[in-house]
Amino acid sequence: MRELIKGRISSFQTLGTLDGPGVRFVAFLQGCPLRCVCCHNPETWDKNGGTQYTAKEVVERAERYKEYFGKEGGITLSGGEPLLQADFVTEVFRLAHEKGINTCLDTSGCIINEKTEELLDYTDYCLLDIKYTTDREYRQYVGCGLNNPLEFLERLNNKKIPCRIRQVIIEGLNDSTDNIKRLAEIIKKYPSIEKTELLAFRKLCVSKYQKLGMSFPLANTPETPQFKIKLLEEKLAEILKEE
Ligand code: SF4
Repeated sequence: MRELIKGRISSFQTLGTLDGPGVRFVAFLQGCPLRCVCCHNPETWDKNGGTQYTAKEVVERAERYKEYFGKEGGITLSGGEPLLQADFVTEVFRLAHEKGINTCLDTSGCIINEKTEELLDYTDYCLLDIKYTTDREYRQYVGCGLNNPLEFLERLNNKKIPCRIRQVIIEGLNDSTDNIKRLAEIIKKYPSIEKTELLAFRKLCVSKYQKLGMSFPLANTPETPQFKIKLLEEKLAEILKEE
């Protein structure tokens, strides 16, 4: 039975407001093939960790909060990297749709195959990271090419799935106007993108790394001040207006 397919989950968040439109029940899936230097969830990397749940169990949990979802909210599968457990995600989303629950995928867009295609057939909304805007930076600071998220965007576009792009702004890595110009070029190409969020780099995850006996690669990088984000947001809006 498909609904008994099991997935590995790191943790749940019952009423999140930052993981997609509206109020959402969020499951953080275990396992990620990437190693972003700014990763805030290193505990989700190990694909054999976490706790196993069936797709049915996850949707039953989400259903308990249905009254809070309103028109826009629903269930978000985040990670880790949910695409690593594509069959499980597809089943959670399929069951969520049966219950009238909106589905949102929070992904790096790093895996694209037939399973991804099927999963997207049950995806209502997508949060996609465009972490950097050059292939060199992607390979150095993420562990895959820029082509992966761009190809993923292409798929979202083909299937007309609305999406929100997110980029964490890190001093010395991607806080330049040139990066914003390149980001704007990407945004202009894909009508599926309905919103772009620039987020300030924070170091709240340092204790997680310490607990795991690992060092945080950006421990010496300062947190990004909010005024810098505002300036870059203004620059982005200005470029997107010039058409
Ligand atoms: S894709 Fe997400 S979970 Fe994976 S390493 Fe990057 S930030 Fe961490």
